[in-house]
Amino acid sequence: MPKEKDHLRAIFINPPVYDFSAFDLWSKPYGFLFIVDLFVKNNWNIYYFDFMDRNHPFYQDRKKDKKFGCGNYFFQLVEKPSIYASIPRKYKRFGLPEEIFIEFFESIKNIDAIFISCGMTYWYKGVQEIINTCKKMKKAPVILGGIYPTFCPEHAKIIGADMVFQGADIRNFVSRFNEYTGFQLRYIEKCKPYWQVYEKLSYLVVRTGFGCPFSCYYCGVKKIYPEYFLRDIDQVIEEVIENVSRYNIRHIAFYDDALFCHFERHLRKILEKITSAYKNLSFHTPNGIHPKYITPDVSFFLKDAGFKTLRLSVESFDEKRQQESSFKICLSEFENAMKNLVDAKFSKQEIGVYILAGLPGQSIEDVAETIKFLKQFPCEIKIAEYSPIPGTIDFELSRKLYPTLPLDEPLYQNNSIFPLWNFEGKWEKINWLKNLAKS
Ligand code: SF4
Repeated sequence: MPKEKDHLRAIFINPPVYDFSAFDLWSKPYGFLFIVDLFVKNNWNIYYFDFMDRNHPFYQDRKKDKKFGCGNYFFQLVEKPSIYASIPRKYKRFGLPEEIFIEFFESIKNIDAIFISCGMTYWYKGVQEIINTCKKMKKAPVILGGIYPTFCPEHAKIIGADMVFQGADIRNFVSRFNEYTGFQLRYIEKCKPYWQVYEKLSYLVVRTGFGCPFSCYYCGVKKIYPEYFLRDIDQVIEEVIENVSRYNIRHIAFYDDALFCHFERHLRKILEKITSAYKNLSFHTPNGIHPKYITPDVSFFLKDAGFKTLRLSVESFDEKRQQESSFKICLSEFENAMKNLVDAKFSKQEIGVYILAGLPGQSIEDVAETIKFLKQFPCEIKIAEYSPIPGTIDFELSRKLYPTLPLDEPLYQNNSIFPLWNFEGKWEKINWLKNLAKS
């Protein structure tokens, strides 16, 4: 028999990350915080543990911020999974040590539900670690959501999650959760990220909309958000203003997938309100923005508003690759965007340009050509290594091109190693591209 709702307790866990590298680039489990809010509004008692929280007291003597609140995570070297044996890189567990979590977890009595979120598909080792620990200590259903179970639901079931939730639709989540557990969670329409679970924040993460109107061959965004939609402007402004004041925030990172698509009627209005309430904030766009929207007027507006990190999505100047990228960029649009940003006095260090490397069938020459072409512009070239996402056109193409590769094992989807298959297994080729980009 379910207990009275006032006595229900849930723990939300953002697990550690097992990978070759990881960096806190304004990383927070934003969507997960909406689910926390849903439970708060349903009067559940909430407990929260973020292994990747660099403001945890554990970091007191260790933490060194790099810039704009970003920085390195604490890590421990761990044994590589056998499939990575030939990779000449160290494998690490990033995040708070397990003992800290166990102490916290033991202190909570009578948990009714355990929620775990997971970013990348190939980060499931961290989820597995937490599921094993939780199941040894408490009897409560483990509910897993996020990118990994969305794209690899079958795999997520076999590592021990009791309920696997795909996608990001909260209404759907509520009905699945109630059906599975027998609880009577109410759907609440206006949930927002429940930042109060953090005592301190070095930056704020915001999304002004979800999804994307484009359909690139390599991207899985439509599986998470089938529809592109903008959030209510007032709700976004309220969320930002409330938390800037609560945490004395200086840096704000926008994580939209299509941030500038409706600049005039959406982002401009949001920024005008925020910047009139707070001066001296700095803004960042770590997800690539689309150069076609960077007009002269937009460039000057962004400069005045305080944008310090602009990342432009170019992917490739190869015609075939541009088609695969929904023609979201063409050469003249990129040239115009760069001119406008330079006219608005953005420096080379503030403008980063993402290009993709390791797409199925993509030659090293294609990537090198794009890098060489970009050298004439005042921007930093950022190589984004391709990661095959189940369910996408390029994932299926990867299957055809590399039939011996067991791509359903998420560890093979790791962007640190996948491009190797395209570059004849030669690590030096990836390093050569990185050096070319940096030099
Ligand atoms: S523009 Fe970006 S977010 Fe949109 S589909 Fe393409 S890669 Fe995905």
